[in-house]
Amino acid sequence: MNNETLLKNLRNVPDFPIKGIQFKDVSTLYKNAECMRIMVDELFDMYKDKGITKVVGIESRGFVVGAALAYRLGAGFVMCRKPGKLPADTKQMSYMKEYGKDTIEIHSDAITEDDVVLIHDDLLATGGSMNAAYQLVKEFKPKRVSINFIIELTIEGLNGRSVFDKDVDITTLIKI
Ligand code: AMP
Repeated sequence: MNNETLLKNLRNVPDFPIKGIQFKDVSTLYKNAECMRIMVDELFDMYKDKGITKVVGIESRGFVVGAALAYRLGAGFVMCRKPGKLPADTKQMSYMKEYGKDTIEIHSDAITEDDVVLIHDDLLATGGSMNAAYQLVKEFKPKRVSINFIIELTIEGLNGRSVFDKDVDITTLIKI
């Protein structure tokens, strides 16, 4: 169920970064102590019994709640970053965006076959970036991989869920 406090505090910025995009600005949730508590507590309740050992956050908005949630779950936190940011050996995944190709990376020793992984990001739009992160995490052969977003955009015909395999466990806190 959509949380009214989160919906009320989420800022919509029209025409950012380009004309026609309704940008959902989660910084207004992150700066609000009550919203931070709601997001982390709701996610903790959803995942506390799932045996999560690693939370993977997608750069950069996925780091904020992802790291707080990892702490609450007693799990480790792993950064999924843009190329050239991580200092040690990495595994990479490239994917197509609207304009050209993009790549993401995770440290090669960040996830093991014993891990149960939750990948977190702020928002599901087309699903392209999360699907790339999902495929990358699966290369580490962890026991299980789940996916969470704070916001799922279903407006303007977006159906980001459709890019994922049918059996993938995807949760969201707000649908817009
Ligand atoms: P996608 O790969 O299309 O699902 O895009 C998801 C990523 O792009 C997320 O990490 C969001 O931070 C960002 N994003 C895409 N569309 C929006 C939007 N309308 N408002 C805010 N962020 C967005």
